[in-house]
Amino acid sequence: MRLPALLLLSLLCSLSQAAEVLASIRPLALIAAAVTDGQGGRVSQLVPAGASSHHYQPRPSDRLALARADVVLWIGPAHERFLTRMLAASPNVLTAQSLPGISRKLQRRPNGDGAIAGTVDPHLWLEPDNAVVIARALAEALARREPAQAEAYRKNAAAFANRMATFKASQAVRFQGLPSRSFVAYHDAYQYIEPMLGLNFRGSLLQSPESKPGAKHFLLMSQRIRQEGIFCFLGEPGFDKALAKHVFNGRPTNPVEVDELFTKAPLDAVGFEAGLLQMTDAIHGCLGGK
Ligand SMILES: [Zn+2]
Repeated sequence: MRLPALLLLSLLCSLSQAAEVLASIRPLALIAAAVTDGQGGRVSQLVPAGASSHHYQPRPSDRLALARADVVLWIGPAHERFLTRMLAASPNVLTAQSLPGISRKLQRRPNGDGAIAGTVDPHLWLEPDNAVVIARALAEALARREPAQAEAYRKNAAAFANRMATFKASQAVRFQGLPSRSFVAYHDAYQYIEPMLGLNFRGSLLQSPESKPGAKHFLLMSQRIRQEGIFCFLGEPGFDKALAKHVFNGRPTNPVEVDELFTKAPLDAVGFEAGLLQMTDAIHGCLGGK
């Protein structure tokens, strides 16, 4: 019973011209909104705002949405593990972590000393050059589907690339004047954005987004904060504030919430920049910038 319904649905979709892009998480949906701007397509987002994209439980309606989409855009098994099996048989999938030209980094040890072999740090959308690679790949995928609109998609991707280049240059200048750019993270989500801002990662409290730190690691971080006079602490929405306070052990600290998933950015052509700017604003403020 289910198969004919899905076939009928995909037939109906193939008759309509406007492309439907389904992105796993908001930053990818925002890139898709930039690429499809003005082309009458529809962009939707699988993991709702506020849900953990690291450990999401898909609903039955998500399967239907995946079957309906013309292009499915996701980071890849390093991030949305729950999608790995669901997407195995789908033909129109763009996997960001394996696109040619994407810069991939290994996950770092929480003490900041070295990386873990065989891993991929999934937060790769935070590197503006990676966002551009994703935008261009999506434009090509849509161009193959709708050759008449190919030039429009490519133009949108090129405009996005220009805006990202401007953004990178302006943020680099803005962060240069800060006296210190050292920070401690709640969970290590920032290495793709660190080179652009000249940030100095000094460790993260959590080994993974869902695990508590061990006592030895906690002590090491507390000592480092004291010895190096670190005051900037980057946490994501809903982070354990008591834990952060405890590791600073009475020292002055400036903990901020950084929205790595751009949940407050509007789903429009310039939403990605808005999300990235909100994030860099928060980090700038954390480091004492005015
Ligand atoms: Zn994360």
